Amino acid sequence: MSALSLKKYRRIAVKIGSALLVDRTAGLKREWLQSMADDIGRLAHDGAEVLVVSSGAIALGRTILGLGRKALKLEESQAAAAVGQIALAGAWSEALGRHELKSGQILLTLGDTEERRRYLNARATISTLLKMQAVPVINENDTVATTEIRYGDNDRLAARVATMMGADLLVLLSDIDGLYTAPPARDPNAEFIPMVDRITPEIEAMAGAAASELSRGGMRTKLDAGKIATAAGTAMIITAGTRLSPLGAIERGERFTLFKPSPHPVKGYKTWIAGQLEPAGRLTVDTGAVKALMSGKSLLPAGVKAVAGNFARGDTVAILSPEGFEIARGLVAYDAADAVRIAGRKTVEIETVLGYEARSAMIHRDDLVVSHAGAFGD
Ligand code: GLU
Repeated sequence: MSALSLKKYRRIAVKIGSALLVDRTAGLKREWLQSMADDIGRLAHDGAEVLVVSSGAIALGRTILGLGRKALKLEESQAAAAVGQIALAGAWSEALGRHELKSGQILLTLGDTEERRRYLNARATISTLLKMQAVPVINENDTVATTEIRYGDNDRLAARVATMMGADLLVLLSDIDGLYTAPPARDPNAEFIPMVDRITPEIEAMAGAAASELSRGGMRTKLDAGKIATAAGTAMIITAGTRLSPLGAIERGERFTLFKPSPHPVKGYKTWIAGQLEPAGRLTVDTGAVKALMSGKSLLPAGVKAVAGNFARGDTVAILSPEGFEIARGLVAYDAADAVRIAGRKTVEIETVLGYEARSAMIHRDDLVVSHAGAFGD
């Protein structure tokens, strides 16, 4: 991949990994931070809107509190995040301030992007900040996040925010310069991939082991982020942030992988559905239903072969093909128990089975997103 001008992108989200910003012994890497703020200043003065998703709260809190490398209990890492976040936000505000840029801190919990009302609320605040020409500096609210209710990695958080805000580019900066045919640390013959048209199962296999606690923040979560971003029409770049001015480096021709946005991006309300991080259940459908979905129809109970998960009406569920591939997702019109009872039944039978008059569709087409671009699942 040769140099890429970032000028054509009007709204850019940049995710910055902890190791880029924080040195375990020396603390905040001020020179690096300033070079990053210089990059942002340049883009902003050229008219782009930039959103920063900055990790580093826990790492910085650790160094400030002198906690060393010891494993932290949940409440200790929450406390470290509290100490680190205040310093991190201050440092961003100062570094961006040197370019006459104002900044505003946004701390999100999982529910803020997964629940529709809170999603709209977060979006309104961030868009107001952008209108006021302040750079949103975003992180997970680690001080209250617990294992069950957290993003856990800022890659997916950044993708969720980028698509929520309709960014046209998401840049993930970390210690790896892009995607390889296999994890380069394990395979010396791994080849670099400069461009990805579509995240297929073959591309996903290149990330190595399936999602696990250990691969958190690794290539696996970056591809998950890529699926969320590209499905909504946001291009994504993975590149190394370890050098100074990493955005300038993209424009100077340093290595990166570019993931192209889907040619059929989902829009508006459906962006929120497509990017949901954890569908609450799965509906496996028959081939007739697959065809109907592909031609834009609703999912009827008759086409549903199996129901899994303990979901409530209105939750997001994944729709699987008979082969088990996720082909769509949508907001289900029934609780799991009722969905089980009407699966495979004709529409005219539903009222008799359930004992009440109900919706004819299991998922109405207005609440349904079909994956044209390998957007989600495998
Ligand atoms: N939110 C975490 C922090 O600021 C980082 C999560 C991540 O790096 O993916 O410390």
